[in-house]
Amino acid sequence: MIGMSVLTSSPVPANPTPLVDRFARTITYLRLSVIDRCDLRCTYCMPERQTFLPKAEVLTLEELHQLALGFIARGVRKLRLTGGEPLVRRDMLDLVRALGRQLEPGGGLEELTLTTNATRLAEFAEPLREAGVRRVNISLDTLDRATFTRITRRNSLPQVLEGIAAARAAGLTVKLNTVALKGINEAEIPDLVGWAHGQGMEITLIEVMPLGEVDEDRFDHYLPLSSVREGLDKRWTLTPSAHRSGGPARYVDVAETGGRLGFITPLTNNFCEGCNRIRITATGQLYPCLGGHEQVDLRAALRSGEPEAALARALDTAMRIKPERHHFTIDRAGEAPHLPRHMSMTGG
Ligand code: SAM
Ligand code: SF4
Repeated sequence: MIGMSVLTSSPVPANPTPLVDRFARTITYLRLSVIDRCDLRCTYCMPERQTFLPKAEVLTLEELHQLALGFIARGVRKLRLTGGEPLVRRDMLDLVRALGRQLEPGGGLEELTLTTNATRLAEFAEPLREAGVRRVNISLDTLDRATFTRITRRNSLPQVLEGIAAARAAGLTVKLNTVALKGINEAEIPDLVGWAHGQGMEITLIEVMPLGEVDEDRFDHYLPLSSVREGLDKRWTLTPSAHRSGGPARYVDVAETGGRLGFITPLTNNFCEGCNRIRITATGQLYPCLGGHEQVDLRAALRSGEPEAALARALDTAMRIKPERHHFTIDRAGEAPHLPRHMSMTGG
């Protein structure tokens, strides 16, 4: 295993060139996928027999670290590690500890977070907190064991609930993300929201997105959040909230539960004008837009003879090609093009 000592920090330059795209959007938020593998097989995310990448294609620990430092030097202030499932990568804690050092004064980073399915969080919550992580996003679509197994193809709900409890016990702020699925967790969503709020957790509902080939037809389970919201409106008093995360979510406050509820509706709403983020896959492909085809190969830059200069050029290219808006569509398979990559590549 590669030790932490290999990962040395470099100081943030005094006058960094910020990452600003053609539409005057400044990029301050990076989502970095550290692995394409996962211990679950959520039906909307990947097929049961997913082909994972050979190890040589995935960025090494040093490359991930170098990349993150390069972005921090250019003004990225918030870094989210994702996957696949980030906690199944064996050297993950080394990376988090090394990046955690950038949270110290003068380090440039303001927030280091993780998106996880929580199956391994019982083991990792405490060390993550010690490394500087304060918040985690946890994906949870149901509290029913059979439904969980139906969605993820794995019988792991007890571990996930233990992971959530451990994260809270370690003092991490937990936000839940729930993909709304017609006829699967649809009827349970109000109870799930009530449960999350009852425990002081924020929850965000997400519409299923057409990313990558999966075994099922996503259209069968596509549930517009407008209809979920109508149902919730009948049950509770929802007041639009001014809260913004810089991303696609729009929020409401729920009077009866005292909690905040987010809606991410990529297929029905336009949220691109304030976009402050970019994504990088575990192979170092930069996608300036989750819903676009544009990409820049940062791994080639990192593995070139002059990685620093090549990386700087690649980031400038990314700023030139970040599209104004995404072009998601969802329809019966075959009737409308979807994006060929899975969410486990870009991290979501
Ligand atoms: N494995 C981690 C997890 O599940 O939290 C991190 C990676 S996962 C790809 C990130 C998020 O993407 C999860 O909240 C998951 O529900 C969501 N996701 C995956 N495929 C999706 C799709 N096709 N449409 C909408 N959300 C999706
Ligand atoms: Fe794994 Fe997350 Fe994809 Fe589910 S959504 S299969 S947990 S990467």
